[in-house]
Amino acid sequence: MRMTDGILCDIRKTVSRAKNSRFYGGHFRGVEADDIKTAEDFLKLPFTEKDDLRGAYPLGLQAADDEKIVRIHSSSGTTGAPVIIPYTKKDVDDWADMFARCYRTAGVTPLDRVHITPGYGLWTAGIGFQLGAERLGATAIPMGPGNTDKQLKMMEDLKSTVLCATSSYALLLAEEIGRRGLKGKINIKKGVIGSERWGKKMRERIAGELDAELYDIYGLTEIYGPGIGISCGYECGIHMWTDYFYYELIDPGTGENVEEGEIGELVITTLKKEGAPLIRYRTHDLTRELPGECPCGCGFPRIDAIIGRSDDMVKVKGAIIYPGMADAVLAVVDGVGSEYRITIDRLNGKDVLRLFFETALTDGDGIGELEKRVETAFKSGTGVTPESKAVPMGSLPRSEKKSARIFDNRY
Ligand code: ZN
Repeated sequence: MRMTDGILCDIRKTVSRAKNSRFYGGHFRGVEADDIKTAEDFLKLPFTEKDDLRGAYPLGLQAADDEKIVRIHSSSGTTGAPVIIPYTKKDVDDWADMFARCYRTAGVTPLDRVHITPGYGLWTAGIGFQLGAERLGATAIPMGPGNTDKQLKMMEDLKSTVLCATSSYALLLAEEIGRRGLKGKINIKKGVIGSERWGKKMRERIAGELDAELYDIYGLTEIYGPGIGISCGYECGIHMWTDYFYYELIDPGTGENVEEGEIGELVITTLKKEGAPLIRYRTHDLTRELPGECPCGCGFPRIDAIIGRSDDMVKVKGAIIYPGMADAVLAVVDGVGSEYRITIDRLNGKDVLRLFFETALTDGDGIGELEKRVETAFKSGTGVTPESKAVPMGSLPRSEKKSARIFDNRY
């Protein structure tokens, strides 16, 4: 996004606050806030990585005095130490304001009853959805996850109008409503869906089953939590609340800002945060900035829906390939299953990308023809021509992790 003098002023304040923390005291040794006068000066600041935050465990990120800290959140520590983020009262207030703005963008009003199924605890999920609903003046119903029977009973009895959930849980509830024939008794009109990437097909299924409008909410615990941006009724990207943070899109390899409209890794600098300000924090989420004004009239800039993780992407012949892209390509070719595997090898000095996909067709059914169609679709979607190879249905390994589908053997 565009840098302005006002943002630079906020960045200087953020840097000088951050340096009170143990982590930034060391990370920014030699950096003086007042020396950051131009966009170029800002771009010289080092990135902050998730591992840096883990290394600061437990309270190395705390930049405000103890008496100002009112709350702790933590991002899940599935690998290594968790990240602890301290919040001041102002941080919690700012987050609530941003989240209330998300609900307003989704058309939620004080008359709505907001059914909250994300989890409560150290992480920022459930409590963020609740904060925002209360700040807006709607009625929060803090269900938390699980117990489908109880979810559906409360939804019916309390006439919940807004469902907050991950995409997979929203789908489960939507299908259960259909299966139990409860559709006429459920009043959900809107879904505020967060925390996972989800494809167009899944979105359509949830919207269809629930007969509801869906909104895509974005956020991460390191930067307040969910609610720092949301899609609007035009479903054309996510509006980002850039009065609270500055974002860049970088080439994950070189660290340079990408050209406007190009895919890059989202990097966020907080502008108002007191408890744990972050500067040039690499989210590892891949997206692109969308140009122009949104027809909804909201002036905040938009990024595309998150299309993958920069850790999963590879560069082949100058083009960026990431798992979500292969999903999208294979989804449009008839006769192809959803599982695939990509290998990249260097042969005789050239990069060769092989794409293995599943099909129910057998040799007599024109497999060669199908392979050609997959190659054409992949080339038009990515700019790279693969060697494609059809394999029988069920023969590729199943994995929860999309990253386990691309194998880069070049290095
Ligand atoms: Zn809009």
